[in-house]
Amino acid sequence: MTETIENLRDFNYYPFSSNVNSKYVLAEYIWIDGTGEKLRSKTKVYLNPIKNLEDLEWWTYDGSSTDQAVTRFSEIYLKPVCMVKDPFRGDPHLLVLCETYLPDKKTPARYNFRWLSNLIMEKAKGHKPWFGIEQEYFLLKRTGTTHLWPLGWPNGGFPYPQGRYYCSIGERNNFGRALAEAHLRACLNAGLKIAGLNAEVAPSQWEFQIGIAEGIEIGDHMWLARYILERIGEEFGIDINYDPKPIQGDWNGSGAHCNYSTQTTRSEGGYKYIVENLMPILQKQHKDMIRLYGINNQLRLTGKHETGRYDQFSWGDGSRGCSIRVPIITKELGQGYFEDRRPAANIDPYLVSAALVDVTCLDSEHL
Ligand code: ADP
Ligand code: MN
Ligand code: MN
Ligand code: MN
Ligand code: MN
Repeated sequence: MTETIENLRDFNYYPFSSNVNSKYVLAEYIWIDGTGEKLRSKTKVYLNPIKNLEDLEWWTYDGSSTDQAVTRFSEIYLKPVCMVKDPFRGDPHLLVLCETYLPDKKTPARYNFRWLSNLIMEKAKGHKPWFGIEQEYFLLKRTGTTHLWPLGWPNGGFPYPQGRYYCSIGERNNFGRALAEAHLRACLNAGLKIAGLNAEVAPSQWEFQIGIAEGIEIGDHMWLARYILERIGEEFGIDINYDPKPIQGDWNGSGAHCNYSTQTTRSEGGYKYIVENLMPILQKQHKDMIRLYGINNQLRLTGKHETGRYDQFSWGDGSRGCSIRVPIITKELGQGYFEDRRPAANIDPYLVSAALVDVTCLDSEHL
């Protein structure tokens, strides 16, 4: 793994960053494209300092090149909604997450689910919904001209069976730590609410956690953390893969467990409220919610490999074979959070967080 270690050493690889006089601000405008899963970005040079979101202009891009518009009406608007420090270029440069709008500046463009999510989060503000999302992913490397295969696996073949890789150390067990570590540090430097990382059950599979974040912030920070991860992947020559089941067979798929609590679940009697009020609602809504929980997720939710089944709702205290796990600490304290284990790694976190809030805070008010 010499090359990844060398790449980490070169991590301050933008030799120009310190040369860009601070009177310029390079703002990297970032948006979700017409796949709903991939991000795009481009740079805008500001000649004046940027103190807050209002200092950033709306901008446009060619939506026909991102599968979000036709050529004749190609322009899509970018509306800055969240800015953090750019960990690549350094101060005073910025990463600017944007919502996308049609030319009327009102109609959300394709895959702008933040617009909808934000309405729901605003409505439910009083419930103080908190989230922690565990983003799992695989690291893939090119083995020929086009073929991608997990980093550290024998070319086109398979490593030792699972068991030795989760939270592992050592050359035989741990593939790509330098990349995961660089990502964690870059996220912290950007100012994102990243909670930690770990090597996962499958070899070359990793996880980072974003949280605790309230309301719309969970989606914003998740997408920005994904952006940073892809950018670091470029430097390492690694493809970041969020497929729910990238390798068939006895290899874990990738999820995005969503840990969730509200003012009510965190208060006295919260555990009882989770079990008696929320679990029945979530059971009833299972079929509708699961549709928002990632494409091809049925390949992952088999009831094996620490998952519940796709077509069946289940919950359990401390169980990792269920749709929802209520942590034993929540039971012990009588209040706290629960973990929705159904979401796949390729979710739009805006949709999943909003669905949970809609079902547990808003709909329940008139059930
Ligand atoms: P696991 O044991 O499932 O691997 P992790 O430690 O990876 O759990 O992730 C747990 C996540 O739960 C963390 O991101 C943390 O921020 C989040 N979390 C902790 N308490 C709460 C809470 N009260 N509400 C929402 N999320 C929470
Ligand atoms: Mn052009
Ligand atoms: Mn975890
Ligand atoms: Mn995990
Ligand atoms: Mn988990």
